[in-house]
Amino acid sequence: MRFRILGSGSSGNSALILTEGSRVLLDAGFSARRLEGLLADSGEALERIDAVFVTHEHSDHSSGIESLKKHPHLKFFANAATARAIQKNLTWSPSWQIFETGTSFQYKDLDIESFTIPHDAQDPVGFRFTNGLDCDLFSPRRTLAWVTDLGHAPPSIRDRIRESDVVVVEANHCHRMLEADPKRSWNLKRRIGGRHGHLSNERMSELLASAASPRWQRVYLAHMSRDCNSRDAVEQSLLALRSLIKCEFSIVLHGEGTAFYEFS
Ligand SMILES: [Zn+2]
Ligand SMILES: [Zn+2]
Repeated sequence: MRFRILGSGSSGNSALILTEGSRVLLDAGFSARRLEGLLADSGEALERIDAVFVTHEHSDHSSGIESLKKHPHLKFFANAATARAIQKNLTWSPSWQIFETGTSFQYKDLDIESFTIPHDAQDPVGFRFTNGLDCDLFSPRRTLAWVTDLGHAPPSIRDRIRESDVVVVEANHCHRMLEADPKRSWNLKRRIGGRHGHLSNERMSELLASAASPRWQRVYLAHMSRDCNSRDAVEQSLLALRSLIKCEFSIVLHGEGTAFYEFS
C-alpha cells in the first residue's frame, strides 16, 4: 500500500491511496481540474481512479464532487447524511455507495473501517484503510488511520489510532495564535476551538501521547490553519512527544501535499 496527501488544509483536502488492486481518493476538496494536475504529478489520472471516500460534507472535503461529473465511473463512498448534504448542491447524481458509520466493509483489496468523529457536520467520519495479508512478507497487513476535522478525541478514536501503522491526524491551530487572530470573530474562534471544531496542536499532542504505539511507522500532522498555525508551533508541541514516540513525524503545511509513503 502506498499513499500520498495531495493537499491538506481549509482550502482543500484530498489524498491518494494505491494498492495492487485499488486506486482510491480520500475526500475531494479540489476541482477535477486541480485533482487531475495533482494526480498527474503522481503518475495517475482520474480515469484510473476507482472510488472516492468522503469524510464529511464541508466544502474543503467535497467541493470537487460537482466537477467530477465528467467522470461518472467514480464510486463515492459516504454515509447517508453526508451523501444527502452533498447531493443537495450537485447538478448530477454520483454513484453513491452508502455505508453506515461505525461499520467495516471491503472494497476490492482494501478493508475499510469508518468511525464517528466529533465535528460540526451531519455525520462526520474518520477512516482506517487496511491492505495486505498477515503472513505475506512482500505485502504485510498494514493500516492507515485518517483522522482530521475533530474537536476532541474520545477513547474510541485513540484506540483506532493506536492500532494503526501510519496515522494522519489534525494539527489545526495553535491555541494562542487562534486567540490572538484579528481576522476571526469571537464566535468563529469558539467554533474552531470547541469540542466539535478542530484539534489544536496542544490537543493533538495529548492525543498522540495517550495513544502512543510501537506500531507507528509515521505520523502526519495535517489540516493546518494558514493563519493560526505554523511549522514552529507544531514542532513545539512535538518536543515532548519525540522522546516518547520513536517514529517519523511529518508536518504537512497548509495547502501542501506530501511525497508518496510506501508502507514497509
Ligand atoms: Zn476540513
Ligand atoms: Zn470539516
